[in-house]
Amino acid sequence: FELKFPENEPIKGYMPGSPERTALKAELDRQLTSFVEIPVIIGGKEIRTGNKVQMICPHDHQKVLGEYHVAGEKELLLAIESAEAAREEWENMPWEHRATIFLKAADLLTGKYRAKVAASCMLGQSKNPFQAEIDAICELADFLRFNTYYTQEIYKQQPMNTPGVWNRVEYRALDGFVAAITPFNFTSIGGNLSTAPAMVGNTVLWKPSSTAVLSNYYFMQILMEAGLPAGVINFVPCRGADFGRIVVSHPKMAGFHFTGSTAVFNGIWNQVGTNINKYVSYPRLVGETGGKDFIFAHESADVEALACAMVLGAYEYQGQKCSAASRAYIPESLWGELKGRLEEEIGKIKMGDVRNFSNLMNAVIDQNSFTNIKNYLDYARESKDAEILIGGKCDDSVGYFVEPTVILAKTPNFKTMVEEIFGPVMTVYVYPNDKLEETLKACDTATIYGLTGAVFAQDRAAIIKIARALDHAAGNFYINDKPTGAVVGQQPFGGSRASGTNDKAGSAINLYRWMNQRAIKEML
Ligand code: NAD
Repeated sequence: FELKFPENEPIKGYMPGSPERTALKAELDRQLTSFVEIPVIIGGKEIRTGNKVQMICPHDHQKVLGEYHVAGEKELLLAIESAEAAREEWENMPWEHRATIFLKAADLLTGKYRAKVAASCMLGQSKNPFQAEIDAICELADFLRFNTYYTQEIYKQQPMNTPGVWNRVEYRALDGFVAAITPFNFTSIGGNLSTAPAMVGNTVLWKPSSTAVLSNYYFMQILMEAGLPAGVINFVPCRGADFGRIVVSHPKMAGFHFTGSTAVFNGIWNQVGTNINKYVSYPRLVGETGGKDFIFAHESADVEALACAMVLGAYEYQGQKCSAASRAYIPESLWGELKGRLEEEIGKIKMGDVRNFSNLMNAVIDQNSFTNIKNYLDYARESKDAEILIGGKCDDSVGYFVEPTVILAKTPNFKTMVEEIFGPVMTVYVYPNDKLEETLKACDTATIYGLTGAVFAQDRAAIIKIARALDHAAGNFYINDKPTGAVVGQQPFGGSRASGTNDKAGSAINLYRWMNQRAIKEML
């Protein structure tokens, strides 16, 4: 059993007449005309608590896709018990057998269940087919395959021996369970945060986002079909506050794997601090959190490439990627031409129902998100320090639709230039060409975040200068490309500052965090 470095799952094009398009369309119709009831899954058993929440389509909020059962205190305690009970056998299972389960899950996902998972992600999280494909299928399969490979490579690493001494390192799992809380915007993140700790022998409680339960549940079913033993991952949709109170403060929580907003992660971190004397082990805290991702253009930039990166970086998936380009710094010598190109390209964007495959954009995730984005747009509209240059209209009569929007800010500290909005809103600051240094400083210090960023320049010296000036402003840095779309195995993903602990998702760094090494010295 020797795994080779994996290849990325090829992205399907869903072209007219293709078999994958036919299968996806049929699956969309099937899911729209059926009603699914999702249980809590603990110790491999389905539990129906009776406390149910509806799942709706964001692009058509009257359309109910089904309901999920909410885990309460009783179920969360049972899930902890079940994770603890499954731990010893799972950790001691030969690693190749554990690996086989995740590799099989990747094959089921990319084969038999491709259309089902993609359709659930499109309908439940409002993604077009391409966005669903690169997230719920390709990236999720990549996480499973690459993490399996990286685990194999970690296990091979052993210390040196000296005459008469045999040294070795055992890569044990943590001494307790891992809690995983996942966001709505990537099904792949739900799948990765639950499986990465499990891959190296931990058992997990997984709380999916309330607005991504459908696709996350289908993936959980795939894991079970692939042979995941009962209790290894327990699927517990529940209220965040309950999870915090019961699971995060439990003495046996040994790891916490989170992706979501900075505020929620900070809350959990505080909670862990308050409970620090209760834990058996110091919980490993791994968080990927918010972002305010930038595009910084130099006067030597190629305007066409820049315009294209701004449009795709800001508006794909309605700007709801943690890496979305949401602020841009443009030298005034380029602005005239760039503005024209942005107006033209944004004017071509189609928005609407996920079943119309020519829509680049669909709806934002829910009413809260819609209202939050609208409030930012109203603020910009009324401010004397900014103007809405393109778009800005919002309509929630059928679904939660927000037009792709460009705000032009007069100062680099304008509210929409520094706060995470998580919607299709990009704020542009046009700087005088001779104010490069000051503008770089503003870009570096104006926000609390450090997730992704891009520089556009053709002058090599400028690229070096800008990259150095912004060296901690982005954990993922792009040169002449948009700041979204990191690929597992190619650009390990994660940020620093208030964007997270930078334990790179889909890398050995992340997997190490779920291991408790035992170094053994034996005299021969
Ligand atoms: P969110 O913080 O609202 O929710 C994330 C998860 O936390 C959900 O499962 C939610 O139910 C849960 N939660 C909410 N309140 C809680 C509480 N008090 N206690 C425990 N759990 C609680 O985030 P979201 O809206 O799902 O996702 C968007 C956010 O995620 C953005 O800030 C985005 O930047 C971030 N994100 C970051 C990355 C990254 O890699 N850095 C990736 C994706 C998303």
